[in-house]
Amino acid sequence: TSLSASVAKLSEPQGQLLSTVDVFIFDCDGVIWRGDSLIDGIPETLEKLRSAGKKCFFVTNNSTKSRAGYKKKFDSLGLDVAAEEIFSSSFAAAAYLEQSKFLEKKAGKKVYVIGEVGICDELDLIGVPYIGGPADEGKQPEMVSGAKVDHDEDVGAVIVGFDRHINYYKIQYAQLCINENEDCEFIATNLDAVTHLTDAQEWAGNGSMVGAIKGCTGQEPNLVGKPSPLMIDYIAEKEGLDRARICMVGDRLDTDILFGKNNGLKTCLVLSGVTTEEKLLGPENDVAPDFYADSIADFFVKETA
Ligand code: PLP
Ligand code: CA
Repeated sequence: TSLSASVAKLSEPQGQLLSTVDVFIFDCDGVIWRGDSLIDGIPETLEKLRSAGKKCFFVTNNSTKSRAGYKKKFDSLGLDVAAEEIFSSSFAAAAYLEQSKFLEKKAGKKVYVIGEVGICDELDLIGVPYIGGPADEGKQPEMVSGAKVDHDEDVGAVIVGFDRHINYYKIQYAQLCINENEDCEFIATNLDAVTHLTDAQEWAGNGSMVGAIKGCTGQEPNLVGKPSPLMIDYIAEKEGLDRARICMVGDRLDTDILFGKNNGLKTCLVLSGVTTEEKLLGPENDVAPDFYADSIADFFVKETA
Protein backbone atom coordinates (compact mmCIF):
# COMPACT_ATOMS: atom_id res chain seq x y z
CA THR A 1 0.00 0.00 0.00
CA SER A 2 1.08 3.54 -0.67
CA LEU A 3 2.31 5.76 2.11
CA SER A 4 0.68 8.86 0.66
CA ALA A 5 -2.31 8.55 2.93
CA SER A 6 -0.25 8.44 6.15
CA VAL A 7 2.55 10.96 5.53
CA ALA A 8 1.66 14.61 5.93
CA LYS A 9 3.26 17.13 3.63
CA LEU A 10 3.91 20.32 5.51
CA SER A 11 2.06 23.27 4.17
CA GLU A 12 1.17 26.34 6.13
CA PRO A 13 0.12 26.76 8.86
CA GLN A 14 2.79 24.67 10.57
CA GLY A 15 1.40 24.57 14.09
CA GLN A 16 1.44 20.78 14.16
CA LEU A 17 5.19 20.39 13.84
CA LEU A 18 6.39 23.45 15.71
CA SER A 19 3.97 23.11 18.63
CA THR A 20 4.94 19.51 19.35
CA VAL A 21 8.73 19.80 18.96
CA ASP A 22 11.29 21.56 21.20
CA VAL A 23 14.45 20.18 19.63
CA PHE A 24 15.43 19.70 16.01
CA ILE A 25 18.22 17.39 14.94
CA PHE A 26 19.26 18.25 11.42
CA ASP A 27 21.19 16.01 9.08
CA CYS A 28 23.65 18.27 7.19
CA ASP A 29 24.22 17.32 3.55
CA GLY A 30 20.91 17.62 1.71
CA VAL A 31 19.28 19.59 4.54
CA ILE A 32 21.59 22.51 5.43
CA TRP A 33 23.95 22.38 2.46
CA ARG A 34 24.58 20.43 -0.70
CA GLY A 35 28.33 19.87 -0.99
CA ASP A 36 29.72 23.35 -0.36
CA SER A 37 26.59 25.35 -1.18
CA LEU A 38 24.08 26.50 1.38
CA ILE A 39 20.48 25.50 0.60
CA ASP A 40 18.08 28.44 0.07
CA GLY A 41 16.38 29.90 3.12
CA ILE A 42 18.46 28.09 5.74
CA PRO A 43 19.95 31.01 7.73
CA GLU A 44 16.54 32.66 8.09
CA THR A 45 14.89 29.38 9.09
CA LEU A 46 17.48 28.57 11.75
CA GLU A 47 17.17 32.08 13.14
CA LYS A 48 13.38 31.77 13.32
CA LEU A 49 13.63 28.38 15.03
CA ARG A 50 16.00 29.79 17.62
CA SER A 51 13.80 32.86 18.17
CA ALA A 52 10.92 30.47 18.75
CA GLY A 53 13.02 28.86 21.52
CA LYS A 54 13.85 25.66 19.65
CA LYS A 55 17.15 23.89 20.25
CA CYS A 56 19.02 22.80 17.13
CA PHE A 57 21.65 20.09 16.67
CA PHE A 58 23.44 19.04 13.50
CA VAL A 59 24.35 15.43 12.82
CA THR A 60 26.43 14.31 9.84
CA ASN A 61 27.69 10.90 8.80
CA ASN A 62 30.59 12.52 6.95
CA SER A 63 33.72 11.73 9.02
CA THR A 64 36.22 13.75 6.99
CA LYS A 65 36.04 16.76 9.32
CA SER A 66 36.08 17.05 13.10
CA ARG A 67 33.52 19.06 15.04
CA ALA A 68 35.91 22.01 14.87
CA GLY A 69 36.27 21.49 11.11
CA TYR A 70 32.48 21.62 10.72
CA LYS A 71 32.30 24.70 12.93
CA LYS A 72 34.55 26.40 10.33
CA LYS A 73 32.30 25.18 7.53
CA PHE A 74 29.19 26.57 9.29
CA ASP A 75 31.06 29.86 9.85
CA SER A 76 32.09 30.06 6.21
CA LEU A 77 28.46 29.61 5.16
CA GLY A 78 27.44 32.42 7.52
CA LEU A 79 25.65 30.12 10.00
CA ASP A 80 26.06 30.81 13.69
CA VAL A 81 26.37 27.32 15.17
CA ALA A 82 28.38 26.25 18.25
CA ALA A 83 30.82 23.34 18.03
CA GLU A 84 28.82 21.63 20.82
CA GLU A 85 25.75 21.61 18.59
CA ILE A 86 27.57 19.58 15.92
CA PHE A 87 27.80 15.78 15.95
CA SER A 88 29.88 14.27 13.16
CA SER A 89 30.55 10.55 12.79
CA SER A 90 34.24 11.36 13.48
CA PHE A 91 33.20 12.78 16.85
CA ALA A 92 30.93 9.76 17.40
CA ALA A 93 33.86 7.38 16.91
CA ALA A 94 35.87 9.23 19.56
CA ALA A 95 32.85 9.48 21.89
CA TYR A 96 32.36 5.72 21.54
CA LEU A 97 35.98 5.04 22.56
CA GLU A 98 35.56 7.36 25.54
CA GLN A 99 32.28 5.74 26.61
CA SER A 100 33.69 2.25 26.27
CA LYS A 101 36.72 3.38 28.33
CA PHE A 102 39.25 2.47 25.66
CA LEU A 103 42.12 4.25 27.40
CA GLU A 104 41.41 2.61 30.76
CA LYS A 105 40.50 -0.88 29.55
CA LYS A 106 43.11 -1.05 26.84
CA ALA A 107 46.04 0.63 28.53
CA GLY A 108 48.95 1.08 26.12
CA LYS A 109 46.73 0.34 23.13
CA LYS A 110 46.26 2.58 20.12
CA VAL A 111 43.91 2.95 17.18
CA TYR A 112 44.63 2.27 13.51
CA VAL A 113 42.79 4.80 11.35
CA ILE A 114 41.55 4.39 7.81
CA GLY A 115 40.15 7.86 7.25
CA GLU A 116 40.93 11.51 6.91
CA VAL A 117 41.93 14.27 9.29
CA GLY A 118 38.51 14.54 11.01
CA ILE A 119 38.92 11.25 12.87
CA CYS A 120 42.55 12.00 13.80
CA ASP A 121 41.63 15.45 15.17
CA GLU A 122 38.89 13.96 17.34
CA LEU A 123 41.25 11.27 18.69
CA ASP A 124 43.82 13.98 19.50
CA LEU A 125 41.20 15.81 21.56
CA ILE A 126 40.50 12.80 23.77
CA GLY A 127 44.15 11.79 24.00
CA VAL A 128 43.77 8.39 22.31
CA PRO A 129 46.97 7.49 20.42
CA TYR A 130 46.60 6.43 16.81
CA ILE A 131 48.57 5.49 13.73
CA GLY A 132 47.61 5.41 10.06
CA GLY A 133 45.21 7.96 8.59
CA PRO A 134 46.80 10.58 6.32
CA ALA A 135 50.29 9.39 7.41
CA ASP A 136 49.80 6.19 5.38
CA GLU A 137 48.80 8.01 2.22
CA GLY A 138 50.65 6.75 -0.86
CA LYS A 139 52.22 3.74 0.91
CA GLN A 140 52.58 0.54 -1.06
CA PRO A 141 53.52 -2.78 0.54
CA GLU A 142 56.55 -4.55 -0.88
CA MET A 143 55.26 -7.74 -2.44
CA VAL A 144 58.36 -9.80 -3.16
CA SER A 145 59.22 -13.15 -1.63
CA GLY A 146 59.71 -12.87 2.13
CA ALA A 147 58.53 -9.26 2.38
CA LYS A 148 55.64 -8.47 4.70
CA VAL A 149 53.82 -5.61 6.32
CA ASP A 150 54.77 -5.39 10.00
CA HIS A 151 51.87 -4.25 12.10
CA ASP A 152 51.87 -2.80 15.60
CA GLU A 153 50.49 -5.42 18.01
CA ASP A 154 49.24 -2.70 20.32
CA VAL A 155 46.42 -1.70 17.99
CA GLY A 156 43.23 -2.24 20.04
CA ALA A 157 40.75 -0.79 17.54
CA VAL A 158 40.55 -0.06 13.82
CA ILE A 159 38.34 2.87 12.84
CA VAL A 160 37.19 2.92 9.22
CA GLY A 161 35.93 6.25 7.90
CA PHE A 162 35.71 7.84 4.48
CA ASP A 163 39.22 7.98 3.01
CA ARG A 164 39.95 9.39 -0.43
CA HIS A 165 43.49 8.01 -0.11
CA ILE A 166 42.66 4.46 0.89
CA ASN A 167 45.22 2.03 -0.56
CA TYR A 168 46.23 -1.63 -0.39
CA TYR A 169 48.75 -0.95 2.39
CA LYS A 170 46.02 0.46 4.67
CA ILE A 171 43.68 -2.44 3.89
CA GLN A 172 46.44 -4.98 4.60
CA TYR A 173 47.38 -3.17 7.84
CA ALA A 174 43.78 -3.14 9.09
CA GLN A 175 43.38 -6.78 8.07
CA LEU A 176 46.43 -7.79 10.15
CA CYS A 177 45.31 -5.76 13.19
CA ILE A 178 41.86 -7.38 13.21
CA ASN A 179 42.67 -10.93 12.08
CA GLU A 180 45.75 -11.36 14.26
CA ASN A 181 44.27 -9.92 17.44
CA GLU A 182 40.94 -11.25 18.72
CA ASP A 183 40.50 -8.23 20.98
CA CYS A 184 40.91 -5.65 18.25
CA GLU A 185 37.64 -3.82 17.65
CA PHE A 186 36.39 -2.91 14.18
CA ILE A 187 34.55 0.43 14.23
CA ALA A 188 32.80 2.01 11.22
CA THR A 189 31.96 5.73 11.27
CA ASN A 190 29.13 5.18 8.75
CA LEU A 191 27.98 2.82 6.02
CA ASP A 192 26.69 5.26 3.38
CA ALA A 193 26.78 3.43 0.03
CA VAL A 194 27.19 6.54 -2.08
CA THR A 195 27.72 10.22 -1.28
CA HIS A 196 27.32 13.51 -3.09
CA LEU A 197 30.89 14.77 -3.00
CA THR A 198 30.09 16.81 -6.10
CA ASP A 199 26.76 17.24 -7.82
CA ALA A 200 27.95 15.72 -11.10
CA GLN A 201 27.37 12.13 -9.98
CA GLU A 202 27.15 9.82 -6.99
CA TRP A 203 30.50 8.82 -5.50
CA ALA A 204 31.39 5.60 -3.70
CA GLY A 205 30.82 6.26 0.00
CA ASN A 206 32.28 4.86 3.20
CA GLY A 207 30.33 1.65 2.63
CA SER A 208 33.04 0.81 0.11
CA MET A 209 35.89 1.30 2.61
CA VAL A 210 34.08 -0.61 5.35
CA GLY A 211 33.22 -3.29 2.79
CA ALA A 212 36.90 -3.79 1.99
CA ILE A 213 37.69 -4.51 5.64
CA LYS A 214 34.59 -6.68 6.14
CA GLY A 215 35.60 -8.63 3.07
CA CYS A 216 39.05 -9.58 4.33
CA THR A 217 38.18 -10.11 8.01
CA GLY A 218 34.68 -11.61 7.88
CA GLN A 219 33.87 -9.28 10.79
CA GLU A 220 30.87 -6.99 11.16
CA PRO A 221 31.82 -3.48 12.26
CA ASN A 222 30.47 -1.65 15.25
CA LEU A 223 28.64 1.30 13.65
CA VAL A 224 28.73 4.69 15.41
CA GLY A 225 27.06 6.96 12.81
CA LYS A 226 23.40 7.07 11.74
CA PRO A 227 21.28 4.92 11.96
CA SER A 228 23.02 3.57 15.08
CA PRO A 229 21.53 5.07 18.28
CA LEU A 230 24.87 6.25 19.66
CA MET A 231 24.63 9.90 18.66
CA ILE A 232 21.01 10.38 19.68
CA ASP A 233 21.63 8.66 23.02
CA TYR A 234 24.58 10.98 23.55
CA ILE A 235 22.61 14.13 22.69
CA ALA A 236 19.46 13.15 24.61
CA GLU A 237 21.39 12.17 27.71
CA LYS A 238 23.81 15.09 27.74
CA GLU A 239 21.07 17.65 27.18
CA GLY A 240 18.44 15.87 29.31
CA LEU A 241 15.92 15.83 26.45
CA ASP A 242 12.48 14.23 26.12
CA ARG A 243 12.70 12.14 22.94
CA ALA A 244 9.02 12.58 22.17
CA ARG A 245 9.69 16.31 21.65
CA ILE A 246 12.69 15.83 19.36
CA CYS A 247 12.31 15.83 15.57
CA MET A 248 14.95 14.25 13.34
CA VAL A 249 15.09 16.05 10.00
CA GLY A 250 16.94 14.43 7.10
CA ASP A 251 17.02 13.75 3.38
CA ARG A 252 17.61 9.96 3.51
CA LEU A 253 15.02 7.38 4.43
CA ASP A 254 17.47 4.59 5.25
CA THR A 255 19.73 6.60 7.57
CA ASP A 256 18.03 9.74 8.92
CA ILE A 257 14.37 8.74 9.06
CA LEU A 258 15.18 5.21 10.21
CA PHE A 259 17.54 6.67 12.84
CA GLY A 260 14.73 8.88 14.13
CA LYS A 261 12.05 6.17 14.07
CA ASN A 262 14.27 3.54 15.70
CA ASN A 263 15.02 5.92 18.53
CA GLY A 264 11.58 7.23 19.44
CA LEU A 265 11.88 10.62 17.71
CA LYS A 266 9.46 12.45 15.45
CA THR A 267 10.74 12.50 11.88
CA CYS A 268 10.60 14.86 8.95
CA LEU A 269 11.96 14.06 5.49
CA VAL A 270 13.02 17.01 3.35
CA LEU A 271 13.15 16.81 -0.43
CA SER A 272 16.18 19.17 -0.66
CA GLY A 273 18.59 16.22 -0.85
CA VAL A 274 18.65 12.73 -2.33
CA THR A 275 15.04 11.54 -1.90
CA THR A 276 12.29 12.47 -4.35
CA GLU A 277 8.60 12.70 -3.54
CA GLU A 278 8.02 9.81 -5.98
CA LYS A 279 10.45 7.61 -4.04
CA LEU A 280 8.98 8.58 -0.66
CA LEU A 281 5.40 7.85 -1.71
CA GLY A 282 6.22 5.02 -4.11
CA PRO A 283 5.40 1.32 -3.58
CA GLU A 284 9.02 0.31 -2.78
CA ASN A 285 9.34 2.52 0.30
CA ASP A 286 8.11 1.34 3.67
CA VAL A 287 9.82 3.94 5.86
CA ALA A 288 7.19 6.58 6.65
CA PRO A 289 8.32 9.86 8.23
CA ASP A 290 5.75 11.76 10.31
CA PHE A 291 6.07 14.78 8.02
CA TYR A 292 7.77 15.80 4.83
CA ALA A 293 8.54 19.15 3.26
CA ASP A 294 10.38 20.56 0.26
CA SER A 295 12.98 22.03 2.63
CA ILE A 296 13.19 23.20 6.23
CA ALA A 297 12.31 26.69 4.99
CA ASP A 298 8.74 25.31 4.77
CA PHE A 299 8.65 24.92 8.56
CA PHE A 300 7.40 28.49 8.58
CA VAL A 301 4.65 30.08 6.61
CA LYS A 302 6.12 31.61 3.49
CA GLU A 303 5.78 35.37 3.38
CA THR A 304 3.97 36.36 0.26
CA ALA A 305 5.54 39.18 -1.70
N1 PLP B 1 30.07 10.75 3.89
C1 PLP B 1 30.65 11.53 2.96
C2 PLP B 1 32.05 11.28 2.57
C3 PLP B 1 29.94 12.58 2.38
O1 PLP B 1 30.54 13.36 1.45
C4 PLP B 1 28.60 12.80 2.79
C5 PLP B 1 27.83 13.89 2.21
O2 PLP B 1 28.36 14.79 1.54
C6 PLP B 1 28.04 11.96 3.75
C7 PLP B 1 28.80 10.95 4.28
C8 PLP B 1 26.65 12.13 4.25
O3 PLP B 1 26.56 13.28 5.07
P1 PLP B 1 25.22 13.65 5.84
O4 PLP B 1 25.01 12.63 6.93
O5 PLP B 1 25.48 15.04 6.37
O6 PLP B 1 24.14 13.64 4.83
CA1 CA C 1 22.03 13.79 4.24
